[in-house]
Amino acid sequence: MSGSNLGAVLVTGGGGYIGSHTAKALHERGYLPVVFDSFSSGSRDAVRWGPLVEGDIRDADALARAMAEHKAAAVIHFAGLIEVGRSMNQPELFWEHNVGGTATLLGAMRSAGVGRLVFSSSAAVYGQGGRGPLEAISEDALKAPASPYGDTKLAGERIIESACAAFGLTGVALRYFNAAGADPSGLIGEAHEPETHLIPLAIAAALGDGKPLTIFGDDFDTPDGTCLRDYVHVNDLAAAHVAALEASLGTGVFEAVNIGGGSGRSVREVVAAVSEAAGPVPHSLGPRRAGDPPSLVADVSRAAELLGWRAQCSDLATIVRDALAWESRPAYGRAGRRPVSAP
Ligand code: UDP
Repeated sequence: MSGSNLGAVLVTGGGGYIGSHTAKALHERGYLPVVFDSFSSGSRDAVRWGPLVEGDIRDADALARAMAEHKAAAVIHFAGLIEVGRSMNQPELFWEHNVGGTATLLGAMRSAGVGRLVFSSSAAVYGQGGRGPLEAISEDALKAPASPYGDTKLAGERIIESACAAFGLTGVALRYFNAAGADPSGLIGEAHEPETHLIPLAIAAALGDGKPLTIFGDDFDTPDGTCLRDYVHVNDLAAAHVAALEASLGTGVFEAVNIGGGSGRSVREVVAAVSEAAGPVPHSLGPRRAGDPPSLVADVSRAAELLGWRAQCSDLATIVRDALAWESRPAYGRAGRRPVSAP
């Protein structure tokens, strides 16, 4: 089904990586995604499936106007700052955008009478403490963020939970594990600047237009000594947002749900998968990166029970295939890194 017969959904940060894939999924499901974005990091070229409202997440009036004008029945909230390293240096900025921005959005939703919110949270809310090194993480695991970024995601969840209790909002926080891959259409994909994530960097190294990859440590307490992460295809993530929007949850209910592929893959396994798809990945071994926990793998049972969601295309080969197609010919972003060849 496509069109907009299911009504409008405000998508803050809809010009970003996960936001744009979610806007496409909303459109395909029959919603009208109304993107609200300041383009401080997203891309105008990624807004293709509904109207655009250019605005800042700290601007309550602009948010309330956008909701009223488009008669939004729900909000999916991605807008925020995401670079963990930067959050160490500029924590005040992260609190202002991620926590202040979420509080402002909640005020605007309350005044506009919009009753459902899906929030972009992160596995960064968990710490390594309180569980075994390779244990899957359930939603009840200890919350001890290792960065101001993780702190602000946890604080965002807490304000939303209070708003649910205070004025009858229904809220779902999706705690993403490692988002990766791209939509096979080639229209949208990952375009962080600067790029710090493993899969795009490994692909760039294999294609010969990035630096050789550095593996950040191989002396962790994991099967091959490199870190384990739970990679989830961005289209599976997008589907999780639609499921969260539609889940039958009562008024005033708040839920936090892990979204991951549900299995751990090591850095060396990722390098092998990229080599298989794109050719050898030039790489060397370097020291550990500060703050990297050995293993972050989701227990995804609550997502299945509560949202009826499970990953469909998050096997590593599919993620790498789709990421490679995008990185070989990105439709936008990647300025100065790789010439876009003609079709
Ligand atoms: N990693 C690496 N080299 C890189 C980038 C990442 O070895 O150039 C490792 C990193 O230490 C982590 C995994 O790859 O164990 C995934 O890192 P990424 O930055 O993609 O996501 P994160 O898990 O930090 O959110």
